[in-house]
Amino acid sequence: MDHDVEAEARERVARRDEAVRAAVEQGLLGPDAAVVGLLDVRGIRESAAALRTAFEAVLAPGTPVLHAFAVKATPLVPVLRLLHEEGVGAEVASPGELALARAAGVPAARTVLDSPAKTPAELREALALGIAVNADNPQELDRLDALVPARGAGGATAAPLRSPLGIRVNPQIGAGSIGATSTATETSKFGVALRDEGAREWVVRAYTERPWLTRLHAHTGSQGIPLPLLARGVAETFALAEEINARVGRRQVDTLDIGGGLPVNFAGEATAPTYARYARLLAEQVPGLRAGRYGLVTEFGRSLLAKHGTVVARVEYAKRSGGRRIAVTHAGVQVATRTVYAPGAWPLRIAAYDGEGRPKPGPEVVQDVAGPACFSGDLLAEGRALPALEQGDYAAALDTGAYYFAHHYAYNSLARPGIHGFGPDGAGGVAFATVREPQTVAEVVAESGGAHASALTALCTPGSR
Ligand SMILES: *Cc1c(COP(=O)(O)O)cnc(C)c1O
Repeated sequence: MDHDVEAEARERVARRDEAVRAAVEQGLLGPDAAVVGLLDVRGIRESAAALRTAFEAVLAPGTPVLHAFAVKATPLVPVLRLLHEEGVGAEVASPGELALARAAGVPAARTVLDSPAKTPAELREALALGIAVNADNPQELDRLDALVPARGAGGATAAPLRSPLGIRVNPQIGAGSIGATSTATETSKFGVALRDEGAREWVVRAYTERPWLTRLHAHTGSQGIPLPLLARGVAETFALAEEINARVGRRQVDTLDIGGGLPVNFAGEATAPTYARYARLLAEQVPGLRAGRYGLVTEFGRSLLAKHGTVVARVEYAKRSGGRRIAVTHAGVQVATRTVYAPGAWPLRIAAYDGEGRPKPGPEVVQDVAGPACFSGDLLAEGRALPALEQGDYAAALDTGAYYFAHHYAYNSLARPGIHGFGPDGAGGVAFATVREPQTVAEVVAESGGAHASALTALCTPGSR
């Protein structure tokens, strides 16, 4: 691990410890706010900067690059605004995500639409706004055909096409260690499966027949995909772009969208692998990328945010059951759904803090950290060696800035926790800013049909009058 990465990780831990302490002191966390999400603004800025510089370092100067944050990783408007300020756009995959990006002020020209199930209305809106679209399959390409204004004769009345358009391909390079996040398998639901019979030829012809197809997209996987496999996916995409351009006899494909998927180190503090390492590997494995012949779009999600988010939950009770030691906290399946349902694939590190939010000293004892939901499997961690968590302490689930607290799961009607960003207050302390208000019980009732309480009893029942 290089020195910078180590120092960066140490500073991140120090900032997190100070933030937990300050959150307790300032009452953001306590008996009446038993679980919160915290976001490290400085850390997010550092990751965005690391992403920019990593690719600048390996690409020819002046190569157009759009880093589009995969909004699904952390769908929070203030986060998207912060990233936008850091030069990072948005990759969206639903009307909701598009609306979030727009609410954050991300311009259409820095937005990419990628969902596997786009409706005609969504496609029409994207083209009207000038948002880039990657068609997932031949049927979607048919829909684009109908929307793209005809060039030349008869097209004069239609608005000009502003959206860069491309096709998403699946190079079918195989799975990583987590099936659910492996997108480039033989039978993946995403994109045009390139190795299927006739598929490659179909893709090449689709480009020769449509001069407006100028991008090529592949996102070959997320957490659990080894770097060399990610690089192979990019190499395959590059080779296909070269083949298309050779066939049409000009540089029609001018931009490669290489997707996201850089894995995150959930086993330790260090950022590993780094963007710098991935960019260098890409430059080695796909030397043609360096030449600047293609603009580049990236779609990183988890790797930009995961390390900068922490779920902190109060230990309501500490108990023993049949010799098992259990800390019952307020963070469980509602904020860490993947971990609770698939603990083998998504283990989380837990840090122990005392009732004042200070890191708890040892000795460590083996214990389970449970959530508040009413099923036995609602565990953040099982059999974990940690300083003994006692009533009134806090348990922090680390590396949860992506795909965790912004992905609330309403089990047991547990309310969405508040999310607070933190940074220095300028006087040696910590300042917080509300990113998302905690959900109130009244809001839980409202979204659970509260306005329709008599909807079912008012319906006629057979045999009654
Ligand atoms: C989810 C997704 C990403 C981001 O993946 P991460 O693993 O979060 O980096 C990028 N592109 C597409 C098309 C996706 O579906």
